[in-house]
Amino acid sequence: MYCTNCYLLFDEQVRRCPRCNSKHIREVEPNDPVYLTECNYFNGETLRTNLEEQGIPYILRQRMGAAFSMGLGLGLGPAGERYQFWVPYCELERCKELADLVVVPEDEWDDPQDETEF
Ligand SMILES: [Zn+2]
Repeated sequence: MYCTNCYLLFDEQVRRCPRCNSKHIREVEPNDPVYLTECNYFNGETLRTNLEEQGIPYILRQRMGAAFSMGLGLGLGPAGERYQFWVPYCELERCKELADLVVVPEDEWDDPQDETEF
């Protein structure tokens, strides 16, 4: 099923959106935007370029992540920025392949000890 509120895909059996608890859910349609991935600024810029090269429309939300709030005043710049991507459901498989190419596992990014090195 698909939540029209958060653009989230989830299990058939679930009657409410697991994220926002909304009952505004329905079958997903090919052009519905669905959540692809979240990544850091550098991966996000690469993925964004790849999507544009492939002519795939996307929704991009940029927000400040933990690295930024912990590093306030340290001149972190965009390094702490998080990118979240949504893409049309019909392009999801293709986009996942693109995302796999550029988005590295982020365990290291989420480790506060690494963030102090910036
Ligand atoms: Zn929802």
